[in-house]
Amino acid sequence: MPIRCEIVSQDRLIFEGDADSVLLPGTEGEMGILPHHAPLLSTLSFGVIKVRYKNTEEIFTVAGGFVEVQPDIVTVLADRAENVRKIDVARAEAARLRAETYLTEGPPPDSDAYLRMEAALRRSRLRLDAVSRYRGGRRANMPSMVDDRD
Ligand code: ATP
Repeated sequence: MPIRCEIVSQDRLIFEGDADSVLLPGTEGEMGILPHHAPLLSTLSFGVIKVRYKNTEEIFTVAGGFVEVQPDIVTVLADRAENVRKIDVARAEAARLRAETYLTEGPPPDSDAYLRMEAALRRSRLRLDAVSRYRGGRRANMPSMVDDRD
């Protein structure tokens, strides 16, 4: 019997489906959730979520958030999350360049703008790293979620 998995980001449903296991980047370390897991609530750090079902695997970047686990459902409320296959590489590269340029120009380190750009840099690096690590190798293959864009 699988566990249900829902990943929501900024009021947008990113993923909904069954899973045999869900791996998450908890702030206290990697979490592996199987069906009938004890209830828990945890914060998430930057990293990837892996949803495995039968012999498929869907991978998502997540830039912080929360996860709530119930025995029959895992619900992720992400600050931002993307399916790795749907990441726009040009956009992530532009975001990284924008942030790197801004940060090297030496704005006040504690200013809001500096902290926002630092966070944007981390998100763009996370996306680019996940694309180079997970895209093009072992392909995920869930028919309902497949996007033809590569
Ligand atoms: P950017 O600096 O490129 O705008 P961001 O992290 O600031 O990125 P937002 O502009 O807040 O992102 O994002 C709006 C939506 O676009 C969010 O749902 C986010 O998950 C998504 N998103 C951001 N960057 C990418 C990307 N490179 N590929 C796909 N989706 C993205």
